[in-house]
Amino acid sequence: MISLRLANDRLVVRQMHELKKQIPLLYALLCVNAFALTSTHYAVAPAWMTVGVLLVLAAVCTVRSIWWLRCDIEAMTPAEIRRLLARTNALTAVITLGFIGWAMRLGFYGGAEQQAHVASFVAITVIGCIFCLMHLPTAALLVSAIVGVPFVLYYIPSGNAVLIAIALNTLFVILVLVRVVLNNFKTFVELIDSRATLAAKQDETQRLMEENVRLAHTDSLTLLPNRRHFFQRLDEAIAVFDMQGAAFALAIFDLDRFKAINDTYGHVAGDRVLAETGRRLTAFAGECVVVARLGGDEFGVILLQTHETREAVEATCHRICEALRQPIDVGETVVSAGCSSGVAVFPEAGRTAAGLFDRADYALYHAKEKARGGVTLFSPDHEDAIRSERAVETALQISDLEAEMEVHFQPILDLSTDRIVMVEALARWTNPLLGRVPPDRFIAAAERCGLIHKLTLLLLRKALHDLKRLPDEIGLSFNLSSHDLTSPETVVSIMAAVRRSEIPPTRITLELTETALLRDFDLAQRSIQALRALGMQIALDDFGTGYSSLGYVHRLSLDKIKIDRSFMADIADTSGRSIVATVLDLSQNLSLDCIAEGVETPEQLAALRRLGCRFVQGYLIGAPVPVDRLERLWQTDAPTAALA
Ligand code: C2E
Ligand code: CA
Ligand code: CA
Repeated sequence: MISLRLANDRLVVRQMHELKKQIPLLYALLCVNAFALTSTHYAVAPAWMTVGVLLVLAAVCTVRSIWWLRCDIEAMTPAEIRRLLARTNALTAVITLGFIGWAMRLGFYGGAEQQAHVASFVAITVIGCIFCLMHLPTAALLVSAIVGVPFVLYYIPSGNAVLIAIALNTLFVILVLVRVVLNNFKTFVELIDSRATLAAKQDETQRLMEENVRLAHTDSLTLLPNRRHFFQRLDEAIAVFDMQGAAFALAIFDLDRFKAINDTYGHVAGDRVLAETGRRLTAFAGECVVVARLGGDEFGVILLQTHETREAVEATCHRICEALRQPIDVGETVVSAGCSSGVAVFPEAGRTAAGLFDRADYALYHAKEKARGGVTLFSPDHEDAIRSERAVETALQISDLEAEMEVHFQPILDLSTDRIVMVEALARWTNPLLGRVPPDRFIAAAERCGLIHKLTLLLLRKALHDLKRLPDEIGLSFNLSSHDLTSPETVVSIMAAVRRSEIPPTRITLELTETALLRDFDLAQRSIQALRALGMQIALDDFGTGYSSLGYVHRLSLDKIKIDRSFMADIADTSGRSIVATVLDLSQNLSLDCIAEGVETPEQLAALRRLGCRFVQGYLIGAPVPVDRLERLWQTDAPTAALA
């Protein structure tokens, strides 16, 4: 059992430590006892047996003690220690044999007192040795056997009752001590075992804790660090760079077509796109580049190279965008998710994590709006824009919108009859403080500050009210914000407002942009179905500016497509014409009406006529005007292309 236990590495190391403390003491004890014996036999025994042996013994004990005192246990392997312990056992046997032999031999000299000294020397020394070798029981047992047995055998034939009594008594003490040593060693082994178990438990707890921290900071899908980690590193960067007075950059990367991919090819494909994006981003990570998934299809990068100029930061972000833009195999097909980036540089764009992140987010928003697929660095111009956007938001919140909002109407002409068949309602806001605010600006502001629901319904009510002043055959086209379609509450309110107006829903077309579908395709589609069920029609506005693939349009229940006005500029040349021709073909194939927006010149109108486009809208036909001006038009009985 003992040898088995010895196999335990931790145990042998501990044994060695204990022995290192005790063996030098053991040698000291041997020397002192030997000196005492020598001194009582000096006069009666030959000098070589007293002083001679003492000197040799002292030399051996000194050398061995020095070795023990100087040995470096930490530098030894358990195997080496095991070899040393075996050697210690052997040496113990040799020294013990020498000692007992020497003592017995000295027993021949001197009188009864000297003989009694020999007996007590052997008894005391053996007890001392056994104690000192407590942590190496094999050695303690060897000492006990080598001393105990010859000791008794040596004295019994002497017939000296005192010496026999000492010998038997010593033997008995040795036996008891052996028992004590074994018990003690067992406890020692158990202690080492329990310490080892405790240490293992502590290691495991430590490992679990570290794993927990890692998991809490990792995104499970992409295995990139997560938002929490990102903001922690951002805070650290701000603290360090603030002290150094240096600059660093924070960039947000957002996939342009992730929602469409997810909606079209399913979540598995979407997950693959995110995982691959994560893998590609990891290639950029390093000591000075922190990458993380912030959530959804948004990724964050912190560029900590202090020496980098704005141009270098921009170039790095372009490289990242380029990498993320590369096609991704999602199993059934290969997709390109596209990527835009917004960047803010510390400290000019912001000194706090929230401030800096907001600025990068704002720059991203601009990239999406104005330079899709590109990188936008936050600039002082953006700061001004933010300030004026805030002014618009504040004005929206405190103004009397009912009084300040107005709806203008722009006619839509049917080229097959040359008559106006519809009007598009366009919101107009004149604020006492800000003056005229363009609708795209205040609509976006209303979306940001949560006022869009209220504003849409207010404008719809006004538009429906004004529509009553126009002939019954004139339809109304009304713009919805992307937030409206994904808010079931707004959709229900729209239906209620139409019902209350008593205008047939069939007269009404709701225009929506692709952004609404990108926000939440399923919810948007459900809203579309509900509105169509009531008899209203749905038009996809600004077609061609977004990323609508033809298949994507097909999946929606649409009635109309409005070709964005940006295509009108090029309609005179071949390539521009062919794009419009393709969209017209598509709408015909899908049985959708097609309206060309932004028609400004007779040449554009002529080109559209030639291409077979039926509905047109633009300054050439008529600019947006208040309802009374439109009303007058019908009163003059010439509601044709003479409005502008
Ligand atoms: P939109 O729906 O694409 O509206 C057409 C925009 O083009 C209008 O700008 C209109 O005045 C302008 N436009 C019309 N004909 C021409 C033309 O021949 N050439 C040029 N260059 N432009 C022309 P507006 O009124 O400034 O509205 C801008 C955008 O604001 C609208 O774009 C629409 O997205 C949004 N908006 C306007 N009113 C509302 C509304 O009541 N609700 C919502 N949600 N959005 C609205
Ligand atoms: Ca529109
Ligand atoms: Ca439009």
